[in-house]
Amino acid sequence: RVKTKWAATRPKFPATELALHNFDTSYSIQLRDLWPSIRVAMLCEQKYGALINSFSSAPNVINELEAQGCKDFISIDCTRNEVHLSSQDSTTSHRASTELQSSISPDIKCLVFPKGDISRFKPAGPDSSGILGYYLLDAASVLPVLALDVQAGHTVLDLCAAPGGKTLALLQTHSVNYLWANDLSGSRTMRLRRTLQSYLPKEFLDENKIHITSTDGRQLGMTEEKSFDRVLVDVPCTTDRHSAMVEENNIFKRSRTKERQKLPLLQTQLLLAGIQATRRGGKVVYSTCSLSQLQNECVVQQAISLAQQELGITVQVQDLRWFAQRFSDTFHFAPQLSVGELVLPHLCANFGPIYMCKLQRMN
Ligand code: SAM
Repeated sequence: RVKTKWAATRPKFPATELALHNFDTSYSIQLRDLWPSIRVAMLCEQKYGALINSFSSAPNVINELEAQGCKDFISIDCTRNEVHLSSQDSTTSHRASTELQSSISPDIKCLVFPKGDISRFKPAGPDSSGILGYYLLDAASVLPVLALDVQAGHTVLDLCAAPGGKTLALLQTHSVNYLWANDLSGSRTMRLRRTLQSYLPKEFLDENKIHITSTDGRQLGMTEEKSFDRVLVDVPCTTDRHSAMVEENNIFKRSRTKERQKLPLLQTQLLLAGIQATRRGGKVVYSTCSLSQLQNECVVQQAISLAQQELGITVQVQDLRWFAQRFSDTFHFAPQLSVGELVLPHLCANFGPIYMCKLQRMN
């Protein structure tokens, strides 16, 4: 008689369960009363946004989406002139809001269904050259790109770029002069290439405009020192929503424990490389899709002090409170973080989690 080898075929604890256990332990302390409702939202269907592809000539894409009830959250929220911060912040907020008005790219459009509406998008259709009309992604993941504030003629480094949602959003600004999109994983870099091929005309995929590499982003800090006006550091993280829901490729699998424990170190090193690759006065946005303070604020604080101590680089955190206020009709933001802003999943607006922090290199 052959004994059934349960242990070899079925893990005693699925990785999704391990992830939820880990989240319950840490987030009930970190997020207190907010955690139960965020937990419920993370276990429900995520909401998407349709990032409009301005390189496609497919007719009536926006009209058709609007006819289904969708709205571009970027232009709606940007037409709100008042920023309601407390009175002690009013001078800063006014300055910041004026700055924002000029700095949010009017060319990025991302349509979402209204709050509480859980309709799904149909897959995007191609134009006569096969270029797709929109890209479906978590609408909150467009926020780090908006926060990066790409201006005409800028050189941009997307340090961890695959599968390419944010790369595509960066290109929708039509302001990037030269884009370097990198990802360590060869297979994911292939996916990034395929994404760009499906969304951009051939002539745009010129090596002089878009350079795609598959290398360890930590090395680009040294080799590309002070080269870029803008750097996006969208790091690997515990991808909380995926880890709570999907068994496949789950970082909470026991076999990946060491990799998971090393994430904050890897994230700090990637952010440091991003800071190093930025020109004096240039901006860096650090982002994750995790709620974890250890992977968010702690990484940012650690990278800022290491940049000063080990590289002699002074970095200043940019205030994004006005930015969060501006998009608060669409997303739920966490109250009072020490640095950066965090979109919290919510049943009525089930985007995120997305954390972002903007830094400026001062020397
Ligand atoms: N920015 C992407 C987007 O919007 O589609 C998502 C990036 S995902 C959160 C993080 C990426 O970091 C993964 O594709 C992973 O392969 C890549 N990565 C992991 N370690 C890396 C490293 N040392 N250097 C560069 N990329 C790395």
